[in-house]
Amino acid sequence: MNLPAATESKEAEPGTSVAIIGAGPCGLFQVLELGLLGIQAHVFDSLKVVGGQCAELYPDKPIYDIPALPVCGAQELVDRLMQQIRPFNPRFHLGEEVTTLLPDGAGRFKVGTAGGTELTVGAVVIAAGLGSFQPRRLGVSGAEAFEGDQIQYRVRDAQQLAGKRLVIFGGGDSALDWTVALAPAAASLTLVHRREHFRGAPATVARMRELQAAGRLQHVEGRAESLLTDGNALQGVRIKGNDGKLHEVYGDQILVFFGLHPKLGPIADWGLALERKAIAVDTEKFETSVSGIFAVGDINTYPGKKKLILSGFHEAALAAFGIQHHLFPQKKQFLQYTTTSPIMHRRLGVPDT
Ligand SMILES: Cc1cc2nc3c(=O)[nH]c(=O)nc-3n(C[C@H](O)[C@H](O)[C@H](O)COP(=O)(O)OP(=O)(O)OC[C@H]3O[C@@H](n4cnc5c(N)ncnc54)[C@H](O)[C@@H]3O)c2cc1C
Repeated sequence: MNLPAATESKEAEPGTSVAIIGAGPCGLFQVLELGLLGIQAHVFDSLKVVGGQCAELYPDKPIYDIPALPVCGAQELVDRLMQQIRPFNPRFHLGEEVTTLLPDGAGRFKVGTAGGTELTVGAVVIAAGLGSFQPRRLGVSGAEAFEGDQIQYRVRDAQQLAGKRLVIFGGGDSALDWTVALAPAAASLTLVHRREHFRGAPATVARMRELQAAGRLQHVEGRAESLLTDGNALQGVRIKGNDGKLHEVYGDQILVFFGLHPKLGPIADWGLALERKAIAVDTEKFETSVSGIFAVGDINTYPGKKKLILSGFHEAALAAFGIQHHLFPQKKQFLQYTTTSPIMHRRLGVPDT
């Protein structure tokens, strides 16, 4: 496959770049459609990785309805999109939830993140899917004080957990995968799940049972009742067992894998017309009720909307023309083919033939 390399990075005129909120497949494809029209994009995602639902919920599953790809793994699709948008040098702001979106009074928008990043852009595309993914929390009093430290919702560095007493909560693939991966090097490992049956892949459940039989881990059936603390340090968790008894499980590090849930969150406060937790858009430009703010992919709604990647790709193409007109109203718009357009070849970094 002959693919173009990254073109030289050019800073767009201040206020003419676009903020894309959400790095799922539709947000990524939006970069391409804007790039082809010569518009620079900043991409924000509250997750530290790109790919949205494809990467977070079903990376290993095959997708069969992407045009011209009879079968494509979900993570593979994300990787291909990243390769395809490389020539446009999008600026990624990962691990940054966009919390504020305000007009700046001069026809532009100020985008602000929970981490304090602020950016002024000419237009905004909300490609926020089901909302920003948040881990389901442990749900016991006082846990917030230890979150990000002794209580974690994802493994950042497995090596740092070697030799520690670990307590893992959950009964799905993530909990089991990490149990099996971490048990051999842990000082001790307790897996807490509210029932005997696990939802993970049968082979992983079998491996977990082997480790349990070999005394490398123990399984407690029940749910977290309260934290065991000593001054400022977390000592472990008190579990209300299915046997009706309270069990004190001691550990240095608590890992919680109750899954992620999407939250519309701050988007609901941006003054946009919503219909049943989705953003209402027109079907000409996929513009929201606020001029200059567009929405593509699963987050939007209009008559006949289907939450498919394919639909989001189409929406991104038309939104890009709407954005171009919003940013440069005097500019005459005409359709060019990537096959034959020298301008697009230059933007794509492919040699003209
Ligand atoms: C199991 C499963 C199988 C599927 N199979 C198919 C299939 O075969 N074919 C198909 O077409 N579709 C399929 N889908 C649906 C498809 O995955 C979605 O339509 C697609 O992911 C939508 O893409 P998106 O870019 O709109 O949003 P998403 O993929 O949801 O990405 C949105 C991103 O926005 C981020 N975000 C949200 N709010 C903020 C904020 N305030 N600040 C920063 N970031 C934010 C989120 O963290 C997320 O990463 C499937 C879905 C699931 C769950």
